[in-house]
Amino acid sequence: MRLVLLGVPGAGKGTQGRRLVERFGIPQIATGEILREAVKNGTPLGRAAKERMDAGLLVPDEVVIGIVEERLKAPDCARGFILDGFPRTTAQAEALDATLARAGTPLDRVLNLVAATEQVVLRLATRLECPVCHRTFNPTGAAAKDGVHCDAHPETTLIHRVDDDVAKIRKRIEVFHAETAPLADYYRRDGRLRDVEGLGDVVTVTARVMDAVAELAERMNGAGA
Ligand code: AMP
Repeated sequence: MRLVLLGVPGAGKGTQGRRLVERFGIPQIATGEILREAVKNGTPLGRAAKERMDAGLLVPDEVVIGIVEERLKAPDCARGFILDGFPRTTAQAEALDATLARAGTPLDRVLNLVAATEQVVLRLATRLECPVCHRTFNPTGAAAKDGVHCDAHPETTLIHRVDDDVAKIRKRIEVFHAETAPLADYYRRDGRLRDVEGLGDVVTVTARVMDAVAELAERMNGAGA
């Protein structure tokens, strides 16, 4: 099952991607997480990306395309993958299609998580992230049990992402509308897109996501995967 999760920052791509991982056992590839890890480790990639990430701007296409192409070669992607936060530009979407076409493994579906701007601003401004497993918690919705530590890593204090302050959130949303939102039409044109309403609690949205991939799941089971 080869999926892309599309949606404005804060629409729930990370959270819903994790549900899909749990259900189907295929990896979630989040370019934002890969880049943040590189920044934390001070690698050349991280040093090159840090300034743009901190400003809420996109990292150059060739950098992220290279990361994803490498990652997709890993054996754990053989049964499928969930791309989260990639592609974000038309050039990235075209590069992905070309790579997958060469491998004879085209994308099955693009899930477009739809959420209103004011709702995502609030979600992002108040969310906390586990630096170990990258799960996010939110006091206004799915809060951590003690509000401070990760439920799965009780020793780990949740952190606020540096790009989750209101000015940078608004910048990231603006960049999304300018660069990434047009991808919905790119995928809608040939029938690969499914809109999924991102409003509501996590369980409700997960049910919609599972519905949107139901026949792909059947096909996967039928193939004995
Ligand atoms: P995210 O965790 O998806 O919100 O991504 C955090 C930041 O990483 C973004 O604001 C960008 O600076 C960078 N980034 C992540 N994915 C991409 C991508 N596909 N293209 C360009 N920049 C990206």
